[in-house]
Amino acid sequence: MATQIRPQPGILDIALYQGGQSQIEGQAEPLKLSSNENPFGPSPAAVAAMQGALTQAHRYPSTDHAALRAAIAEVYDLDADRIICGVGSDEIIHFLCQAYAGPGDEVLYTTHGFGMYRISALAAGATPVVAPERERMVDVDALLAMATDKTRLVFIANPANPTATLIPMADLARLAEGLPKVCLLILDGAYAEFTEGYDGGKSLVETRENVVMTRTFSKAYGLGGLRVGYGYAPKEIVDVLNRVRGPFNLSGIALAGAEAAVRDTDWVAECIRVNAEERARLTGGLRQLGIGCDDSHANFVLARFADEAEAVAVDAYLKAQGIIVRHPRSYGMPQCLRITVGRPEDNSRVLDALRSFK
Ligand code: PMP
Repeated sequence: MATQIRPQPGILDIALYQGGQSQIEGQAEPLKLSSNENPFGPSPAAVAAMQGALTQAHRYPSTDHAALRAAIAEVYDLDADRIICGVGSDEIIHFLCQAYAGPGDEVLYTTHGFGMYRISALAAGATPVVAPERERMVDVDALLAMATDKTRLVFIANPANPTATLIPMADLARLAEGLPKVCLLILDGAYAEFTEGYDGGKSLVETRENVVMTRTFSKAYGLGGLRVGYGYAPKEIVDVLNRVRGPFNLSGIALAGAEAAVRDTDWVAECIRVNAEERARLTGGLRQLGIGCDDSHANFVLARFADEAEAVAVDAYLKAQGIIVRHPRSYGMPQCLRITVGRPEDNSRVLDALRSFK
């Protein structure tokens, strides 16, 4: 007999997450360049702090995350009272949708917007709305044209994933200014550390009432497996988000690891420096091979091929060489491959493999 138990409308429109590939049959240790992880791993100081925290695993963790918020505030010159920590920035996106969007409301993002925007919007019972991009760039005019009095949240990743493109601060300010008064603009800064001179939108959060910035420890800090992210928002918004946050959402181990990681400023600066150098080498190498590639502002590059068939063939060829990259089909870019910037020897391996592709 068919079940009479039904999820709320919208839930079945969420596709089950397939998960990225991390193994290749017959390859003991594939080179994984598919999830924009830090190829150098976490800071040794973070590893030591997590090991130290293990003996306290019988204790419930801090519920206000005061020590981690204080460390983030100190390092990034933020107000600790305006920070909220979550299980990855994924969870902050989820809190925002839970708290600010519901049935009848719209959540707006762009064609290649990060997958969690849609999942969280539908989970909250809201309607996802997708605005077009222009030349793989977020188009502020298209977003402004599509924002209605039903729009509650607008999500932009800057730099964006999977395009690695960046839109200027002036455009972000124009968007924040032009949106309806009831609408929050969320600047997703998952890759902000990799863009020199960009504050992830902090200055806009500090001068406006309708802007929220999200950040993560998963990328530059090499802690994707730990699941820690945070939001920076006006105090009233943080107070609202804290109401939908579970009191013990972050483990003591995660809190200790993230705090040590953010305080290890030399280590992350070095990772960012090497990334910038290697990103330029990878981009240049791709272009030399006649493969289209926009300037990247993140820790990955988007390689554009003639068509989907070529991208699929290159993807298969790289896998045969033990290299896993991301075919961003689900982002609607089937003619592309997204390649995480690895260690220098990893990037040389990718370029050598592409050179030998026939
Ligand atoms: N935003 C963007 C644009 C991302 O690419 C990612 C990770 N893939 C996230 C947010 C979420 O990252 P996390 O939950 O690990 O902080």
